[in-house]
Amino acid sequence: MDGEQKEANLEQRRGVTLWLTGLSGAGKTTIAKKLTDTLRSQSPYVEILDGDIIRQNLTKGLGFSKEDRDENIRRIGFVAKMLTRNGVFVVVSAISPYAAMRREVRNAIGDFVEVYVNAPLAVCESRDVKGLYKKARAGEIKGFTGIDDPYEAPMSPDVECRTDVESLDESVGKIMDVLRTRQYL
Ligand code: ADP
Repeated sequence: MDGEQKEANLEQRRGVTLWLTGLSGAGKTTIAKKLTDTLRSQSPYVEILDGDIIRQNLTKGLGFSKEDRDENIRRIGFVAKMLTRNGVFVVVSAISPYAAMRREVRNAIGDFVEVYVNAPLAVCESRDVKGLYKKARAGEIKGFTGIDDPYEAPMSPDVECRTDVESLDESVGKIMDVLRTRQYL
């Protein structure tokens, strides 16, 4: 390897956080997985931070009050920031219902793409991937986002994926397009 090649290999690539927000069942995990697979075919530096998995370790013990939800997002944002500044493509999948917290992590991370994974509540509820809407409607779960807890939809997301009317490939394609336009790829 000559000096020039070495320099090219050591050149700092730009990392970015792809932050997928949306209701439970909107399609965040599904899109995050496909997006991660697609990115891995282009770069070895890809990490996925899935809200459900993070809640089993990094944020274990936190509940679903506004304070705990904010703390959950703050911690995910902290890790995403460290990875992003080291040139990683970070795919975050978390309901992240509060606009102010999303703004906070966006400002902290800088290289940030907000993806609104959007399907009407009725569609998410009919999918009921984890059976949680049924429990929330029955009053077995209190403070469920979209039922008896707020979801503040992004006003101007960088990408909106309407999973009720577009295919998974279309959604992933839209996100990849933004990454190319912004020269992360
Ligand atoms: P979330 O992570 O937002 O809670 P999931 O990805 O776990 O949502 O579940 C979304 C469900 O919707 C999955 O069963 C998935 O197969 C389905 N689905 C249908 N169409 C789409 C689409 N276009 N994009 C993503 N998911 C879709």
